[in-house]
Amino acid sequence: MGFEDRPAAPILRNMSARVQADGIPHENVDAAEIDKFEELASRWWDPESEFKPLHLINPLRLGFINARTPLHGLRVVDVGCGGGILSEAMALAGASVTGIDMGEAPLKVARAHAMESGAELEYRKMTAEALAESDAGAYDVVTCMEMLEHVPDPASVVSACAALIKPGGSVYFSTINRNPKSFLFAILGAEYVFRILPRGTHQYEKLIRPSELYGWCEQAGIRITELTGMHYNPLLQQYRLAPGVDVNYIAHAVDG
Ligand code: SAH
Repeated sequence: MGFEDRPAAPILRNMSARVQADGIPHENVDAAEIDKFEELASRWWDPESEFKPLHLINPLRLGFINARTPLHGLRVVDVGCGGGILSEAMALAGASVTGIDMGEAPLKVARAHAMESGAELEYRKMTAEALAESDAGAYDVVTCMEMLEHVPDPASVVSACAALIKPGGSVYFSTINRNPKSFLFAILGAEYVFRILPRGTHQYEKLIRPSELYGWCEQAGIRITELTGMHYNPLLQQYRLAPGVDVNYIAHAVDG
């Protein structure tokens, strides 16, 4: 399906549906979630901090993206970029990157880090939905990593990501599955036993089944062509890409 044919109505419907009882439209943002990341932001680039898992998975996801859509020269938006671990790596790989996030402190940290590293990229405080209103069809690649499980309405973010790509563009999502095994590994294991994440980082009911992500993509006019697992070995403290999407997974979705 070409861009012209992509159903715009559900996107707009999703976005305009979030109107509070008082009639004031409000954004698809959970303030408590943003606060969590604001508080930790100063440690974002410390590879031994709460953000260790993001540092560990970054080479995997960068490789996954670059193998499917060689980044050099592409226009990319990183939705929910946080302190910019992936945004910066993509910029250093030659992409023209915009990172967006609703957290003030993570964006500050991201900008400061780019000044130190010399990476050239832009960071903006906004939601994917807001960017989709001004920049629809403007990006070759949209990345939305470890973010969908922190928003009130993930389907709306998926729609906005789909709207942001050019015809033939790609969207990448990564998130955490919702089942007893992921509860054990991603919440009990990571937050309570191995303590690699602060308690309360993830709420079980907000985790996302691949079937749900497939459905939201379909509604948004994009199609998941690949979905693979990111597996953590706590003894080696390493992640690897492999089949099996019970816990962490990454997906590639394409236009149409
Ligand atoms: N994508 C980054 C950071 C993941 S942490 C990475 O994987 O390295 C999740 C980020 O999503 C946080 O920085 C948080 O502030 C951001 N976020 C949460 N809800 C958001 C929203 N509605 N719009 C934009 N960013 C959001």
